[in-house]
Amino acid sequence: MYEDLKNKVAIVTGARRGMGRTHALKLAQEGVKVVVSDISEEDCQKVVDEIKKAGGEGLALKCDVSQKKEVDELVKKTVDKFGKVDILINNAGIAQFKPFLELTEEEWDRTLDINLKGYFLCAQAVSKEMAKQKSGVIVNIASVAMGQVGVGFPNVVHYCASKGGIVAMTEALVLELAPLGIRVNVVSPGMIETPMIDPIKQDPKMIEGLMSRVPLRRFGKPEEVSDLVLFLASEASSYMTGSAVVIDGGWLSG
Ligand code: NAP
Repeated sequence: MYEDLKNKVAIVTGARRGMGRTHALKLAQEGVKVVVSDISEEDCQKVVDEIKKAGGEGLALKCDVSQKKEVDELVKKTVDKFGKVDILINNAGIAQFKPFLELTEEEWDRTLDINLKGYFLCAQAVSKEMAKQKSGVIVNIASVAMGQVGVGFPNVVHYCASKGGIVAMTEALVLELAPLGIRVNVVSPGMIETPMIDPIKQDPKMIEGLMSRVPLRRFGKPEEVSDLVLFLASEASSYMTGSAVVIDGGWLSG
């Protein structure tokens, strides 16, 4: 569908399952060589096996995005194997549900380290490579819980802070990365059916309450978000940088 994606090289973080996995599979279907990365290399290899079975090319690499050393190694191994990096999907994240008054300093730090510092480390490491070829695309996965949307989200204060930080970081990055030929955009999903929302799905009342606020009255599918990620990774979005695109079944407008 996106001819320009053929033979591009992408890194997808947090790709052993959930949306990261579908981003990786869909990119590979377009002919992208995909580095499938997560904290479990074994699970990443299973995704790469799926990619290869479908005729695509991929590489499984362990990387905890909160650790600079591992991120630098991820980018180095990608370049060693495929010669370049064209696309980064900054996707790895955690969501812990905890009332604000019970939240510990360690829990706050862990969420910000993975969800925000991890995005910074990966974006910086790939930008150094992308700058050499004067082209590249970064897609940062935030959330409808990114702030400035007129809706608050209880029991995830640290998560919301990290997602708002991603949007602010992206806006600032645009100015420094555009002259280097690098575009950077945000995707902000609503409630998407992945293992991350298992705790919510165990509470029928909470599902009912949430769905009453989503005009399409259903969870989103990971593949629906991946289709948007593909568009932003491709030349079809060549005039877009610094945009935050919401994909939420109408939640924020409902
Ligand atoms: P998911 O199924 O939990 O996938 C996230 C992946 O990231 C998991 O495999 C997770 O591994 C991995 N990860 C966690 N910490 C990591 C680290 N330090 N380094 C590398 N990988 C790490 O969640 P998802 O729903 O697909 O979420 C993907 C992204 O979308 C996240 O940024 C999330 O915040 C965002 N998002 C999700 C929703 C939703 O409704 N699902 C809505 C808005 C935004 P472990 O399982 O071992 O932790």
